Amino acid sequence: MTFASVQIENLLALRGQPPKVTPEAAAAVAQELYGLSARVTSLDGERDRNFRLDCADGRQFVLKFLDFQADDTVAAGQSAVLAHLEARDEQLPVPRLIRTLAGEELGSAAICGSAPVSGSERCRVRLMSYLPGKLIQAVSPASPALLREVGGTIARLDRALAGFAHPALGQPIVWDVRQAPTLMSVLPDVESASTRRLLSHALAPVELLLPRLKALRSQAIHGDCHGKNVLVSDGGDRCVGIIDLGDMIQAPLVLEIAVTLAEFLTDGVASLDGSGELLAGYAQSQPLSKQDVEALFDLVSARIAIGVLIQTWRERNSTGSAQTSAGLEASSVNALGTLAERGRNRLTREWLDSAGVEASLLRRRYRALGANAELSYDRPLHLVRGDGVWVFTADGERLLDVYNNVPHVGHAHPVVAEAIAGQLRKIASNTRYLDERIIEYVERLTATLPPDLDTCLFVNSGSEANDIAWRIAKSHTGNIGALVMKHAYHGITDAVTALSPAIASAVPPHVEQLNAPHSIDGVAAAESDVSGAIDRLAKRGFKLAVLMMDSAVTSTGIYDPPREWIAPIAQAVHAAGGLIIGDEVQFGLGRSGTHFWGFARRGYHPDIVTLGKPVGNGYPLGVVVTRRSILEKFQKDTGFFSTFGGNPVAGAAGLAVLEVIEKERLLENARTTGDYFIGRLREVGAAHECVREVRGRGLMIGVEVTDKALTRRIVNGLRDRGVLIGSEGPLGNVLKLRPPMPFRPEHADLVIEALTSTLCAVRP
Ligand code: PMP
Repeated sequence: MTFASVQIENLLALRGQPPKVTPEAAAAVAQELYGLSARVTSLDGERDRNFRLDCADGRQFVLKFLDFQADDTVAAGQSAVLAHLEARDEQLPVPRLIRTLAGEELGSAAICGSAPVSGSERCRVRLMSYLPGKLIQAVSPASPALLREVGGTIARLDRALAGFAHPALGQPIVWDVRQAPTLMSVLPDVESASTRRLLSHALAPVELLLPRLKALRSQAIHGDCHGKNVLVSDGGDRCVGIIDLGDMIQAPLVLEIAVTLAEFLTDGVASLDGSGELLAGYAQSQPLSKQDVEALFDLVSARIAIGVLIQTWRERNSTGSAQTSAGLEASSVNALGTLAERGRNRLTREWLDSAGVEASLLRRRYRALGANAELSYDRPLHLVRGDGVWVFTADGERLLDVYNNVPHVGHAHPVVAEAIAGQLRKIASNTRYLDERIIEYVERLTATLPPDLDTCLFVNSGSEANDIAWRIAKSHTGNIGALVMKHAYHGITDAVTALSPAIASAVPPHVEQLNAPHSIDGVAAAESDVSGAIDRLAKRGFKLAVLMMDSAVTSTGIYDPPREWIAPIAQAVHAAGGLIIGDEVQFGLGRSGTHFWGFARRGYHPDIVTLGKPVGNGYPLGVVVTRRSILEKFQKDTGFFSTFGGNPVAGAAGLAVLEVIEKERLLENARTTGDYFIGRLREVGAAHECVREVRGRGLMIGVEVTDKALTRRIVNGLRDRGVLIGSEGPLGNVLKLRPPMPFRPEHADLVIEALTSTLCAVRP
């Protein structure tokens, strides 16, 4: 008989017919079959009739009168398993079988008038040792330590059960999740439409799961370790027993813990976090495979769902147990909701971690870096390799990188990698020694800049470069007032955070903000905007030291304003005695496609240029370029030295990047591909109402959409379609497309295709 062919009425444990036995009759049977004189107390039992025997000498037993409908094979299996467990693990806290005076595993007693059986009927009887303790259900929620211990005890039971074979293990029991397809016929009887939906959602994966289950390790399992079958100490802090092996089956091992998880989650013995403890305790003594744990979510959900179906069937067929179906339904719906909310992927990752199968990188990251360390995308990426504009995940997924600008000349560019590695193999010292690399780099770099920007100072990041540039500007001008763009970002040091309204908790009094170019209408408006800001600083007692300016206006929303916009601003800053720091961390090295430097495209002449991110193509390199007179004074005043700044490896990296940009004509590529890409993006924008504007230049492109929530959906939708982009702007509603420079029109086509299907999918 295959499981699937079982008719619902034939499933065991669906109906029970406990014999009607009085305590007096039980006492008589105890005496007659076992020679025990005992006080008798009734115990709970779904199918069998159970009594506790308290003997005068302190010994305690459970006397079971078996369900009349209990199958002979199943009854024999029960006796056999108890004997097996005793032989395998004497200390295992499960009941021990006590034979009759005649040495039989099962006794037989005449029960008088036990309706519906008329007259005198023989009933099978089993005596077992009584395990003291209370039901774990009474201590819910159980402590993490207790859940771990329960997990460990169940695992120990399973280890002892391994190798047990008996025909009883094939019983088609209704509680076996694999019977779910048969139970589905009950679904229409569930009254609430929303519960029906939830149940069918929970049971839908079972069909696909069944063949997978066949491939999992299978053995005899208890199959019913729920809140009323697990005993704990009176203090509720120790697991002291597991009872009732009446539902044992041959099944995938993981079903054991799935049942417990399902039951504990439903009746509140464990929360989802507690589920990890239970699993950890189990897996510590009974290791689970990745495939086992990956089946858990569906098994747990299905087991909860079939509980409701069984209850519904019983109610319909008037064999309902004490718990009302309304109560069970509510707690089951609640448990299924909690599972769904955490989600299969996340919970499976957590369970894999708890079970020690695979300490998920994400959880290790939480622990190592803190739960609030930023991560891109709802489905975080584990990147293991890059190649040009492509990145590859640990799972072998290939994604098009339309976001990262650190790999300016492409991920893992062999020329850069070789230059860095080659230099590292020779020497990595610091700038207090003579070295050719860094000098050659300065010579090559300054050759691309206006002649007065002729000397460099080296640090290790864009933030540091801006921090030092700010110090230089302050000492050069003797002033401490600053102008920045609205929602600007310039880095993470204390001083530079103050110049970064995008992250500063409050903009300090020595800083004023200029309005974003799109909100400035004409030269006169730009003039009055900047002079107003300088006046406000003056009123607060701050003379202008600096205007710090990201030429791509990236964090402000990615703009490409006409050159007229900057002229009055630059003029006013210089007239007020301030310097201009051109922050080229984003727009430098040809990203605009029209100019090698962003300030040249904007049309201003900076006094200091700062470089970061792309200049080392992944090697940490920050550069401050300025006039010799300014730098020499700063060096004299401060004796500036940065240990890693400008070391020979940094020089080798920087040189290699410049060489590749030139050789591969990446500036030209940024122009032609950028023009093509922006054109195609505008076509897409014209067809989708949610796209407000496509702007930017070269390979620095912003696509403004209606709101932040939509931006998030698009970013994640593209990630799911193999395209990585980011988001930007004060309102977080600008898609940020800023790929490595070897990005070609065919890559743009892939983005357009993915973007079109994403926009259709996320359409509000
Ligand atoms: N300036 C700008 C314009 C930036 O975009 C960034 C980084 N995103 C920085 C400075 C700071 O660079 P880093 O993170 O290397 O310190």
